[in-house]
Amino acid sequence: MIAYLERFIHENDSESRPDDDEKDQLPNMRHSLDLQGTIDCVATGLAGKDFGGMYTCEPLALIRPANPDDVARVVKAAYRSPSLTVAARGNGHSINGQAMSGGGLVMDMRSTAGNHFEVVRINGETFVDVSGGALWEDVLKRCVLEYKLAPRSWTDYLGLTVGGTLSNAGVSGQAFRFGPQTGNVAELDVVTGKGELMTCNENENSDLFFGALGGLGQFGIVTRARVVVQSAPDMVRWIRVVYSEFEDFTRYAEWLVTRPEGKSFDYVEGFVFVNSVDDPANGWPTVPLDPDQGFDPSRIPPTAGPVLYCLEVALHYRKNDHPSKVDKDVNSLLGGLGFIEDMKFQVDVSYVDFLLRVKHAEVSARANGTWDAPHPWLNMFVSKRDIADFDRVVFKGMLKRGVGGPMLVYPLLRSKLMRAKGSKSSSQNPTSHAIAPPPGSSWGKVGLGRGKYAAGVVLKRGVFLAIILSKSIVKSLWLKWDNRTSVALPADGEIFYLVALLRFTVPYPKAPSAEKMVSQNKEIVQFCVNEGLDFKLYLPHYQSEEEWRRHFGSQWPRFVERKASFDPLAILAPGQKIFKRVS
Ligand code: FAD
Repeated sequence: MIAYLERFIHENDSESRPDDDEKDQLPNMRHSLDLQGTIDCVATGLAGKDFGGMYTCEPLALIRPANPDDVARVVKAAYRSPSLTVAARGNGHSINGQAMSGGGLVMDMRSTAGNHFEVVRINGETFVDVSGGALWEDVLKRCVLEYKLAPRSWTDYLGLTVGGTLSNAGVSGQAFRFGPQTGNVAELDVVTGKGELMTCNENENSDLFFGALGGLGQFGIVTRARVVVQSAPDMVRWIRVVYSEFEDFTRYAEWLVTRPEGKSFDYVEGFVFVNSVDDPANGWPTVPLDPDQGFDPSRIPPTAGPVLYCLEVALHYRKNDHPSKVDKDVNSLLGGLGFIEDMKFQVDVSYVDFLLRVKHAEVSARANGTWDAPHPWLNMFVSKRDIADFDRVVFKGMLKRGVGGPMLVYPLLRSKLMRAKGSKSSSQNPTSHAIAPPPGSSWGKVGLGRGKYAAGVVLKRGVFLAIILSKSIVKSLWLKWDNRTSVALPADGEIFYLVALLRFTVPYPKAPSAEKMVSQNKEIVQFCVNEGLDFKLYLPHYQSEEEWRRHFGSQWPRFVERKASFDPLAILAPGQKIFKRVS
């Protein structure tokens, strides 16, 4: 393994050591920067590693800024230099060196974590202003403990920074209702690649705002984010149910995510697991939520294949809700879910413990050595149109023995209309799921050309209400995944699936080598390409401009224009390998 990693590291390291010119720039710069934070050219180890454990590189210096002004000074200095690059490092939980800068400056944004924390009320909506370098787990704890508030949209694991997840999307089981974390931010402070600190939102510097959301760190360094919050529940009933057929699993999961707010669970996710007792990382033992709960294999139908499917849901409630009400609400939803009889596991936990659930997994992964081993993860968004093909070939075929860790698969919605409060689901029957109109009405929108749309609602008694809206208003009203942001999604359809292969294996030779797992990932992506599946990599990683161009598709010209406006010398986030520093 060590030999493999040395080769791997060496191959990835060739352009990433500071050269003499770069070293020469440092003494002058250090003096002129006059930072309130620190700059370290010796103990830079943290900056050369990430969670993926497959890439490493040596930066020129690791900077711990004290405030946004320090961040701006550093970027300005790099802007004036002939060749320096700057990588903001969140918590370094990238897989493929995205937060690194070989021979450049790495800014550890965690040092700015405490700079902002303020609850703001604007026009009846409540937000919390937090630092780009804050960990989501700290945001959660402060919001709940001090204000009984909480952001609406999360990631599964919260040891990630605000700036790090907003640079990608940030998804978990709440995204079907509220969209990704990038859809739950009202304003950002951003230091651009020219070293200018700018406030941006939907109306002010909007191109920077939308560009930075999902922008892979290419347009600026986020120093403050204004995040939408809501009242925090006290408790969560957390439930898992099991299916043997993928078709059933997807039908019921899609039914749940298309139900209106108040008529579904508050969290919907799912995962694939191996139909075997022998695999502690991927098999039956991974399903029960409590060590006292047994998994009774005699319940699995004899027709089941090599993998099974688990739908994971959760319902929020308050401590003073009567237990019988919680039972009734949960049972009425579970009653429609058609899972294998008696294959139901549930626990009640506090809201904070539920959101910190992966932290507990981190403790055991650290203890068994899988936290510090390489993590060749693959994350994708796959369109509903193709998810059954993906299941047939990838889950049931290539991955039928698992990946040594969770294999997530769950549906997300592109637009907002399905969550219109009070609207009825298209049917009480999960076998049909068209978009739901408001009660007693139907809606529609039609393009009028020149960026205008007419939107109409047919109300009760045939009254037709129509308004003409600009294209940008339609986009922001309709899309939870606002397509003005930089996030790339599959081309078609209202529903698409998150697929995440979260490999947690012990180091080689007790488990396959990282190289082997990377090549399996490539094989999966190649299958998707060859078969013309509608998909995008999430947390993408490419080496060439051509691949990035393909990834962004029709959004590529806009991405390039934004780069030219906000980081014309391509100083920022060089570890993404999208643009080359302009000398
Ligand atoms: P880093 O890895 O440090 O940085 C990522 C990128 O963002 C880099 O390009 C960096 O330069 C840039 N960046 C960092 N900070 C800033 C900033 N302030 N301003 C601008 N750019 C910045 N993702 C999900 O969506 N859902 C999940 O449930 C989820 N679970 C995860 C669980 C684990 C255990 C791990 C390791 C990752 C998970 N992820 C998940 C992926 C995660 O969202 C991304 O890897 C994210 O980038 C990590 O955040 P970070 O703070 O460590 O960022």
